Amino acid sequence: MNCCSEKPIIALYSGEKLCKNHFAEYFEGKVFKTIRQFELLDKEENLGVALSGGKDSLTVLHILNKLSKENPKIKINAIAIDEGIHGYRDKTLEKAKEFCEKNKIKLNIFSYNEEFGLTLDEMLKILDVRPCSICGIFRRYLLNKKSKELNFTKLATGHNLDDESQSILMNQLKNNIEASARLGPKVGIVHDEKFVQRIKPLYLCTEKEATTYAFVNGLLDDFNECQNVAQSFRAKVGDMLNELENKLPGTKYSIVNSFLQILPLLREKFKKGSIRICAKCSEPSSNDVCNACVYIEKLRSKMIVE
Ligand code: SF4
Ligand SMILES: [Zn+2]
Ligand SMILES: [Zn+2]
Repeated sequence: MNCCSEKPIIALYSGEKLCKNHFAEYFEGKVFKTIRQFELLDKEENLGVALSGGKDSLTVLHILNKLSKENPKIKINAIAIDEGIHGYRDKTLEKAKEFCEKNKIKLNIFSYNEEFGLTLDEMLKILDVRPCSICGIFRRYLLNKKSKELNFTKLATGHNLDDESQSILMNQLKNNIEASARLGPKVGIVHDEKFVQRIKPLYLCTEKEATTYAFVNGLLDDFNECQNVAQSFRAKVGDMLNELENKLPGTKYSIVNSFLQILPLLREKFKKGSIRICAKCSEPSSNDVCNACVYIEKLRSKMIVE
């Protein structure tokens, strides 16, 4: 069924076909409903938005910026991490800068090179590890540390329904259920001032919907993908889920919706002792020493030996 006489640009999972304007209305409505349903925002916020320059982060910033214009008590700032991935991050950061300049949003950029003394490309020449595991550990570490320094009340990310269904399945496949207890639209097992609360306003939006929204709003002109993505476990699980979704439409929704029902039980199970302080850097950690410090130590010892 078509929404109106205008040409449809997307067919939803329900079978409904929407034109450009009705889709924008539907998508923004879904994001605002997610914010209300999961109480992602308070009346007053100094909100940080993690911006990579990719379609999902630009989409979430675009919508939250609209919200901020209607609710001036919700202040918006962007934060970007330059991992130092040649031929990729330099391009997406340009896109991020351009967007923030045009929309008068303050963009704070921090780099692995300045914070850790090496770019990700350099780290990967020293250590034989999966690029995405080390990249993710350092990115989450810096985002949390810098968001605290910038006094952000919360940090919004562009994670969508596809990302979440992948994370849930990845944790199942790795037998790491404690990591799943930290997922959800509001990240983390317990609230703690050492963590800036991360929120996911696109939680119930599919990748297809987020890409379509970015495209019709001119947020996506060329498609940049990190050269390391193909090596990641996430990409394999993502391919598997896409195949399953083609055969059994609604699979990703089912995974996320059933997960939301057991999430309170998981959090209850793992809440005790879930946050400690890293003995080296005093940042929050689930072990005595945080993963970022473990990798920094490994990099140092390899550099001394070589
Ligand atoms: S794909 Fe992997 S290496 Fe590339 S930016 Fe993402 S996490 Fe980092
Ligand atoms: Zn229409
Ligand atoms: Zn540490």
